[in-house]
Amino acid sequence: MELRPLGSTGLAVSVLGLGTVKLGRDQGVKYPGGARIPSDDEAKTLISTAADLGITLIDTAPAYGTSESRLGSLLAGQRDRWAIVTKVGEEFENGLSRFDFRAPAVRASVERSLTRLRTDRVECVLIHSDGLVENAPELEGTIDELDRLKSRGLIRSFGASTKTVPGGLRALDRCDVVMVTLNPGAKDDLAVIAEAKKRNKGVLIKKALASGHAAVGGMSAGATAQGADPVAETIRFAIGTPGVSSVIVGTSSHMHLAANCRAAAGE
Ligand code: NAP
Repeated sequence: MELRPLGSTGLAVSVLGLGTVKLGRDQGVKYPGGARIPSDDEAKTLISTAADLGITLIDTAPAYGTSESRLGSLLAGQRDRWAIVTKVGEEFENGLSRFDFRAPAVRASVERSLTRLRTDRVECVLIHSDGLVENAPELEGTIDELDRLKSRGLIRSFGASTKTVPGGLRALDRCDVVMVTLNPGAKDDLAVIAEAKKRNKGVLIKKALASGHAAVGGMSAGATAQGADPVAETIRFAIGTPGVSSVIVGTSSHMHLAANCRAAAGE
């Protein structure tokens, strides 16, 4: 598995990362057919497959249900081989999202993430934007707090998972990393990725498979090459985009994970 620098953080991460929404959450998701939370045995196989295939980057969030706490036990004893990305600002409870980007909430969230993940630091924390905060004045206070947590050594780097191009561009001013959407049917954030490349910032890609719709032909017509494997083509498109550090593909299937790794390797 190819490793790429995560901007100027000093971290090198696998070009394919593992997204873990489905590890802990089955409500309020947009996957075709919904989501089924994997059993403990399935989750263990998923993580060991990821490790065997050279994946080093795992993306989670407090808003992904039990994802963080499950990873805490799944990664026990192998913490040093993983770069963990988690988030702040969104909580998902009883089927509803709630947002709080104020400094005390950010601090408490990171401390709780460390407890759940059974670790003393994470490699990156992203602001889990609701699409509004990234363009609002209050973002500065959120970033100030993340900067303090970085100085305290609790987080190695920070950034924002954004929903708008202006929000992504703004995040580049003060953040180490952005997480943006990129797939053949959603290319607006190419402008953010190009600017991030110029400034040597880390770029993580979310929804590279359009939340699974790429696999069931839901992508816009003509989005993928005729007759090609749409999932492999789509993963290669994201990985081949200049400036991309890692493509975080969500899966609860070790078979899909292996196929995605083959696609990432160009096989
Ligand atoms: P995605 O990676 O575009 O697609 C995931 C879906 O694709 C899953 O339903 C998965 O189903 C399916 N899939 C994966 N590999 C496949 C294969 N080889 N063949 C067929 N189907 C396949 O969407 P995402 O999970 O929404 O986004 C990726 C990650 O980005 C998330 O897990 C999360 O870590 C992060 N994310 C962040 C935000 C945010 O910060 N706001 C928002 C969205 C996502 P199976 O389980 O059956 O493989």
